Amino acid sequence: MKDKQIEKLIKGEEKRQAEGLELIPSENYVSEDVLKANGSVFTNKYSEGYPGRRYYGGQDFTDQVERLAIERVCKLFKCKFANVQPHSGAPANLAVYSALLSPGDVVLGMDLSHGGHLTHGHPMTLPAKIYKFVTYKMKNPDTGEIDYEDLRRVAKEFKPKIILAGFSAYSRALNYKKFVEIAHEVGAVTMADMAHIAGLIAAGVLRNPFDDGFDIITSTTHKTLRGPRGGIILTRENEEIAKKIDKAIFPGIQGGPHMHTIAAKAVAFGEAMTPKYKKYAGQILKNAKAMESVFHKNNIRMIGGGTDNHLILADVFGSLGVTGKEAQTVLDEVGITLNMNAIAEDTRKPMDPSGIRFGTPAITTRGFKEKECKYVAELMIKVLKNKDNKKIKESIHKEIKKLAKKFPIPKKFV
Ligand SMILES: *Cc1c(COP(=O)(O)O)cnc(C)c1O
Repeated sequence: MKDKQIEKLIKGEEKRQAEGLELIPSENYVSEDVLKANGSVFTNKYSEGYPGRRYYGGQDFTDQVERLAIERVCKLFKCKFANVQPHSGAPANLAVYSALLSPGDVVLGMDLSHGGHLTHGHPMTLPAKIYKFVTYKMKNPDTGEIDYEDLRRVAKEFKPKIILAGFSAYSRALNYKKFVEIAHEVGAVTMADMAHIAGLIAAGVLRNPFDDGFDIITSTTHKTLRGPRGGIILTRENEEIAKKIDKAIFPGIQGGPHMHTIAAKAVAFGEAMTPKYKKYAGQILKNAKAMESVFHKNNIRMIGGGTDNHLILADVFGSLGVTGKEAQTVLDEVGITLNMNAIAEDTRKPMDPSGIRFGTPAITTRGFKEKECKYVAELMIKVLKNKDNKKIKESIHKEIKKLAKKFPIPKKFV
């Protein structure tokens, strides 16, 4: 590379990723093939529009790439329509809102402090300035069960046009049928934002909301799905909705699609169809359960009481007197990356909350099984209990580096 400054930074990031353990549940490692497609000459091409209906010439190969991506993702999630152009998860959600809502219309989504995502109505976001967001919560943070009765009550009171299921910090399975039932009672469209768990759904190890009658799924492609940074919008069967969504993406909120990313998405979708990927997804869940068992044994409170998916939200302040920010910092020191996270009904501030959130998608890609995951969980707790003990931290950092070396980031998945 001619640009030595940037080359050095890329090398630095490569080393950081190789030597540390990635427990941020929204991160993963892509295959060499995904990287290759993502760095391909498709980055040179403008292709505003959709396959067969473009505003520029020279679309011989772009059309084929986008059609393949659509065909694969529809097969993967069992739906009729897909838009593979969203640049990321946030624009995917914005596009659905703008496709189906008029300014002032109501969306009913999960309360952010109970695990919802910023794009589900945080006051600082553009959607929250245009539409009205009302929320539901967990009935009891120690079991994680959604308060479906309250959801129904709020739905009846506010008559939302969209009922939204999906989270970035929630560890339990959802009763999708209940969402659909309530949506039908009030005439709302059902939308599942599966950004975190899309890979687990694609592999069939978590339930597919489409199987219970959801209308729309939005997702990122770079979390459990293990593709490039990007978004998708899937429509189960309603062509009218799918057409509105296409228009909302282009020309609604985006210009030309990133065809190199779409090529990389297609590669990732192909990888996700393999038996190997199914096995990988199953192992993500087993590994999360293994970590859960260690946290249980150490009496550390987990929101939702544990996990059904790839992530755990632990109340480290309530259980160990260590704040989320302190935990994030001290774990970073020993080579474990995760993030501080507010917990339901948190008494602390967002910039130093009570919880940490971590998950198993990335370490499972590296080949970790239950044994290694339990060991990592034990090391994490040891660090948190000895956060001011330099000697202990140094020895644990060595252990983490050893583990990382033993399980290099793979380049081929299929
Ligand atoms: C990650 C995430 C998003 C946003 O994705 P970006 O790619 O960061 O824009 C949206 N919704 C949920 C539930 C997420 O977890």
